[in-house]
Amino acid sequence: MPKVTINENLCKGCGLCAEACPRGVLALAADELNAKGYPPMKVSNPGDCTACRSCAIMCPDCAITVER
Ligand code: SF4
Ligand code: SF4
Repeated sequence: MPKVTINENLCKGCGLCAEACPRGVLALAADELNAKGYPPMKVSNPGDCTACRSCAIMCPDCAITVER
C-alpha cells in the first residue's frame, strides 16, 4: 500500500496538496498547530491513496514524501 508522509513542521497549512489530490486523502488538522503556528496537513484517508505523487509535486515546501 502507498505511504504518504508529511513533515508537519515544514507545513504551512496552505492546502495546495489537498486541492491537488484527486482522491481526498489529505485534510488540514482541525485542532492542532505545528511549531510554526499553522494547522498541519494530515493523511486522513490513507487507504484511498494511489501514490500518484500530485501532492508531493504541488507542495511548495517539499513537506511530502510518497512511497509506493
Ligand atoms: S499521492 Fe496522489 S492520491 Fe496519494 S495523497 Fe498524494 S495526491 Fe493523493
Ligand atoms: S502543500 Fe505542503 S505546505 Fe501546503 S498544506 Fe500541503 S504539506 Fe503543507
